[in-house]
Amino acid sequence: MNKRWTIEKIREFSEKNSDSKLLSKEYHGFSQKLLFQCACGNKFEKTFTKFNKNDQRKCDVCQPPKEPRGA
Ligand SMILES: [Zn+2]
Repeated sequence: MNKRWTIEKIREFSEKNSDSKLLSKEYHGFSQKLLFQCACGNKFEKTFTKFNKNDQRKCDVCQPPKEPRGA
């Protein structure tokens, strides 16, 4: 099954499944970075694949990347 995402579906998904708001107006494919606004007000860019599959649904401040940098 190949689910086809549209910008409307992604917006719905982000509203239902996260505290972040989709700011991008167009969706061109899974490799495109979409602009989101986190509940804290920060804006962040994320591909929908990461947002959806990797549960990266907040900005890097609220949800720091798992790999510690420089550690
Ligand atoms: Zn945040």
